[in-house]
Amino acid sequence: MKTLLPGATLGVMGGGQLGRMFVHAAQRMGYFTAVLDPDEASPAGLVSHHHVRSDYLDEGGLAQLASLSDAITTEFENVPAGALARLAADVPVAPGAEAVAIAQDRAAEKAHFTRCRVPCAPHAVITSEAQLAAVGDELLPGILKTSRLGYDGKGQVRVADRAELRAAWDSLKRADCVLEKLLPLAFECSVVVARGRDGAMVNLPVQRNLHRAGILAVSEVREGCVPAAQAQRAIEATKAIAQGLDYVGVLCVEFFGLADGSLVVNEMAPRPHNSGHWSIEGADVSQFELQVRTLAGLPLTQPRQHSPAVMLNLLGDLWFHEGRERTPDWAGVLALPGTHLHLYGKASARPGRKMGHLTVTGADAAAVRATALQAARLLGIEPF
Ligand code: ATP
Ligand code: MG
Repeated sequence: MKTLLPGATLGVMGGGQLGRMFVHAAQRMGYFTAVLDPDEASPAGLVSHHHVRSDYLDEGGLAQLASLSDAITTEFENVPAGALARLAADVPVAPGAEAVAIAQDRAAEKAHFTRCRVPCAPHAVITSEAQLAAVGDELLPGILKTSRLGYDGKGQVRVADRAELRAAWDSLKRADCVLEKLLPLAFECSVVVARGRDGAMVNLPVQRNLHRAGILAVSEVREGCVPAAQAQRAIEATKAIAQGLDYVGVLCVEFFGLADGSLVVNEMAPRPHNSGHWSIEGADVSQFELQVRTLAGLPLTQPRQHSPAVMLNLLGDLWFHEGRERTPDWAGVLALPGTHLHLYGKASARPGRKMGHLTVTGADAAAVRATALQAARLLGIEPF
């Protein structure tokens, strides 16, 4: 494929906030953009040059996106792999349908990690009554997760014993699942890599992540935020996972750090990731620019983090106080040094809905953290 220079049109499947930030990065670099999303008020559709309003499997919509675009990427992993394969018949698509299909299925994903010799949590695939009955005691207590379509902790049930496991599987309508042993986490972290068509790879530094109720709440990125040996292993493992998929695009892999110094892979996302949003202001190349570069076939340069950064997710909960709707104290937050507010243009706030994020950068890691804690207090986010 030849390099697509600015002036070309880059397409994206999905119109959520990740698509919106991809569109922003592409437009800044002089590209035109096309978004396919059924929602007429989707965050990315609102800011794109072209917005194809159709279902992800609608032939007319896919044909229109393909005719508008010189290359197409995806912004969420639940785009039907069949749709990506269909688009690839007409235009270059990255990442490819096979890689996305693996990331869509926890069982396939874990098999891939194992093939790449990256350890994952002890687990068992549960697709039948017999597999449920055969689960070993060593996997309990555990977390039962649907193999497909889970996000932000949805489709997951913590189970203490066999009786709860059975009830949980029933509650998930006996969908294909993976039961994972519940691990004692010392910390969580993630790594974003970008891989070009020529196999060249670059990475962002390791991000330390705090989840609350299964949803990412805070990412911190600074020297020493993750023990050096585990950080190094996380970067190497992420590169091996991308390499093993012959991946083209931006890939994020999430890890669990355990107290004994070991590192276990959790899952991967075939796209930029919430935990990499800090890179827009904290690094000289953001994860969204990396997505543009890999899609267009432009050279990849190793991103350099120039500022310690803390990212706070702004969930819909912040729009409510004591049962009443309110506007979060944006003016108060923006009066703090080094704060960067991102709102995704979603019309209505709901608890747990990702409405935006706030990144804090500065020269000094301790000061950045102190400012982020001040911002959290103003917004009603629990301290971390
Ligand atoms: P997302 O796609 O938003 O990252 P998800 O719904 O796919 O989330 P997971 O990443 O599987 O869910 O899990 C969400 C969180 O639940 C993890 O970040 C971690 O905090 C916790 N968790 C998941 N699996 C385990 C485990 N085996 N042991 C301990 N904690 C776990
Ligand atoms: Mg996750």
